[in-house]
Amino acid sequence: MNYNVNEKGYYGEFGGAYIPEMLYPNVEELRQQYLEIMASPEFQEEFQDLLREYVGRPTPLYFAKRLSEKYNTKIYLKREDLCHTGAHKVNNTIGQILMAQRLGKKRIIAETGAGQHGVATATVCALMGLECIVYMGAIDIERQAPNVARMKMLGATVVPATSGSKTLKDATNEAIRDWINNPTDTHYIIGSVVGPHPYPDMVARFQSVISEEITIQLEEKEGRTNPDFVVACVGGGSNAAGAYYHFLNKPEVGIIAVEAAGKGIHTGESAATSALGKTGIIHGSKTLLMQTDDGQITEPYSISAGLDYPGVGPMHAHLFTSGRGEFISVTDEKAMTAGLELSKLEGIIPAIETSHALAIFETRKFKKDDVVVVNLSGRGDKDLNTYIAYFNL
Ligand SMILES: *Cc1c(COP(=O)(O)O)cnc(C)c1O
Repeated sequence: MNYNVNEKGYYGEFGGAYIPEMLYPNVEELRQQYLEIMASPEFQEEFQDLLREYVGRPTPLYFAKRLSEKYNTKIYLKREDLCHTGAHKVNNTIGQILMAQRLGKKRIIAETGAGQHGVATATVCALMGLECIVYMGAIDIERQAPNVARMKMLGATVVPATSGSKTLKDATNEAIRDWINNPTDTHYIIGSVVGPHPYPDMVARFQSVISEEITIQLEEKEGRTNPDFVVACVGGGSNAAGAYYHFLNKPEVGIIAVEAAGKGIHTGESAATSALGKTGIIHGSKTLLMQTDDGQITEPYSISAGLDYPGVGPMHAHLFTSGRGEFISVTDEKAMTAGLELSKLEGIIPAIETSHALAIFETRKFKKDDVVVVNLSGRGDKDLNTYIAYFNL
């Protein structure tokens, strides 16, 4: 079996482009051009140069000695938290801003929930001098004031979405509406491996720099290119897709995906899509989705804003149903404890999203000689208030 996308835009039965007629020209233009643009030496040169000089790549693959001793296995951390803006998301927005320029687009739109993708998009728009409009739920604008301020400082316009639950899915609807109304001059930067084909594949390819670096760095440190396991948290799935990418078709590498169980899978306050989801269509792709019996999307919950998404990207839906990936869900409580533990054992305060991935060492045992790479998707600065409130610091 192959775990990459096929020519029709599917991962097994998942993926595709389920979009309104009015959006077809935009998505089709991108589909016809993205591979050719990405393959051009001129694109690659500018992309690699920005990843190095602006984002700060390659990020270290750090051997976590004290964490490894505690869990009696070899744990390496891929330090995406050291990327400019504090997480992996900028790898994708750099790639997409270069794509937008090649497509002749002058105006950038994006949706954001917690604001992390909005900040990463506003950052690259400032870098390139392009107009940036970020749609954000009115409730999220209130909850995430520091990120709203960051986007404004970076020159972006933040537009509140006031319909429905006034959160991420409503912001996404507004962004899609904008794109339909501005088909010729606007590119829509989607923030994860979700949305209609070719977005999941394009975003996975931009993030695949993560696993490409892991193979080179492991060769230097361990004398082999493959880890035994690669572990990542999954919201939409972009940091995970990037960390898995070069190992997808290597069955000797175990793929572990960690989802947010929230207060517990069966409490009604969870975001564990693989455990709770059924096949459905969300934001233009067929995937696993948390929904009611009559197909209404269920409101997800996690203490971590970046994992609070009712679906997963189609690549992950396929990794789950095919059995290629091992899916584990972790509660708020276990994640928070793991975040505090990494801080104390290694001097690294992780994003709460990432803390979910780190929590697997309490639930799953590895052998002493196993090489386990955890993708450290982001830093915890943005989550300090949540850590403070949770631990009474
Ligand atoms: C946004 C975010 C995530 C979740 O998004 P994915 O697309 O699943 O990677 C995870 N970690 C951090 C630090 C984030 O900012």
